Amino acid sequence: MPEGAFDAFAPSEGSTSPFCIILGLMLSDPHSGAGGADISREYRVDADTNKMARKSLTKRLKGWDRSHCHDVLGLDRSTLSEAKDRVNFFNATAGSDYANLEQRQVVDNDIRTTLANSGGYGSFATTILGDTMVAVALHANFYSANDQQQQNTLLHEMLHAIGWEHDTLVATFGSEGLQGVFDISDWLQRDCKPVQK
Ligand SMILES: [Zn+2]
Repeated sequence: MPEGAFDAFAPSEGSTSPFCIILGLMLSDPHSGAGGADISREYRVDADTNKMARKSLTKRLKGWDRSHCHDVLGLDRSTLSEAKDRVNFFNATAGSDYANLEQRQVVDNDIRTTLANSGGYGSFATTILGDTMVAVALHANFYSANDQQQQNTLLHEMLHAIGWEHDTLVATFGSEGLQGVFDISDWLQRDCKPVQK
């Protein structure tokens, strides 16, 4: 992926983003699901991708509590670290063993759309919110991004996993230099500061 790939698309309107899609009902507190995951069902896990994504997020969160993002977002490292350990990550690219899993096989919802089909053209990642479980499907653009972009894409998805929607982020942090939905990952990469003129 060429440099500046995050800027390759025009800003989109509303809560959708070409880079990132959120599916499912956003709960104010994903921990508070009434019954918990349905244990009679068997959920699939992509252990390799979990390992990769959690390692990448661990790197991103190093020194977090002293970062500008920490102050702006008001989130401690422990909150984001817990999210990374709770979310299941999946390689949803063509040819992956997990691409054709249905959403209901990875989170507690009843949706039969596959992980691969859950992302749109140009997507980096899709956050899939079940009743109590959260999965993040990673798409081709994620895998062609550099390490820093990957880390910040994953961090962006963790903000969804803890209950923040695109519109909320944009409305809350516009005054801190967040330029719109298309910019969330880049803004995180700028340590939550405005673009330097
Ligand atoms: Zn997003």
